[in-house]
Amino acid sequence: MSNADTALTGTCHCGAVAVTLPRRPEAATNCNCSVCRRYATLWAYFPLAEVTFTGHPGHTDRYSWGDKGLYFVRCKTCGCVTHWEPVEPQPDSRAGINLRNFDAAALGTLKVRMFDGAGAWTKLGEIEHAPNGFSIGATLPTS
Ligand SMILES: [Zn+2]
Repeated sequence: MSNADTALTGTCHCGAVAVTLPRRPEAATNCNCSVCRRYATLWAYFPLAEVTFTGHPGHTDRYSWGDKGLYFVRCKTCGCVTHWEPVEPQPDSRAGINLRNFDAAALGTLKVRMFDGAGAWTKLGEIEHAPNGFSIGATLPTS
């Protein structure tokens, strides 16, 4: 895509929290672990230092569980999950950004990795996230 280096901003539903990415992501991850399947998130990973947050932490709450070392962050008002970030950020830390808060047409077509976080902790296959916001063309292996 020609605008690959153009910053892209997404917001929670009420607009109190905004997330700006340095560029359009090339791929996303759909994970079926106990948290991600409930949030129905679509993650893109960026260096934490390259992401700009507006309204965070002032308008956000966070959730952590087990010993994962990260917080899931959501808007205090509308509840939309915006991202996850390390509990103890380091200079090379990365963040997981929930692409569901971004305009699907602006995201364009994305490769979506189906990650089996609930089971084998590995990628099961890839599908395509279309500009209309739906994921199509499942290529999961049959068993
Ligand atoms: Zn909100």
